[in-house]
Amino acid sequence: MRIEDGELILEPGEVPIRPGIFTRQPGDPVPHLLGRKCQDCGDVSFPPYRRCLLCGSDKETVEVVLGNGAVLLGYTVARQVMPGFVPGYILGKVRLKDDPSLVVTAQLVDVKEENVEVGMDLVMVPRVIRELPTGEKVVSYCFRPADSARVSAGQGGESP
Ligand SMILES: [Zn+2]
Repeated sequence: MRIEDGELILEPGEVPIRPGIFTRQPGDPVPHLLGRKCQDCGDVSFPPYRRCLLCGSDKETVEVVLGNGAVLLGYTVARQVMPGFVPGYILGKVRLKDDPSLVVTAQLVDVKEENVEVGMDLVMVPRVIRELPTGEKVVSYCFRPADSARVSAGQGGESP
């Protein structure tokens, strides 16, 4: 994978974890996640839903580019050997700053375990997270520390 002018470009043999979740924001050099927003109550969903599950509005939700900021709510270190994964990666429970109800589970990258702290600010980055038995590499949304003092490049995931 590579990033050109904020657009995530996959190499042959790479697949996104879900289609249509990465997008670009004009003027921003890094990719963003694409969510959907309810036209009635304003609730934002990610992964994106076409219908609002919160208020049950009958209007279709609309696409919204999410900010990349997030906060770490909790984490666990995955030490089991899972097919296609490199053991020892850190799995975070992460709250996106766009909407307090948006909580996702994703790998933390570019950080050593001793520098992980609940409550720390994170930034979304796309990374290869695993390899399928077919040899395809799965690109997903990961998070790295916003504070460069906590960053150790090359920890978890595969650097672009
Ligand atoms: Zn709604």
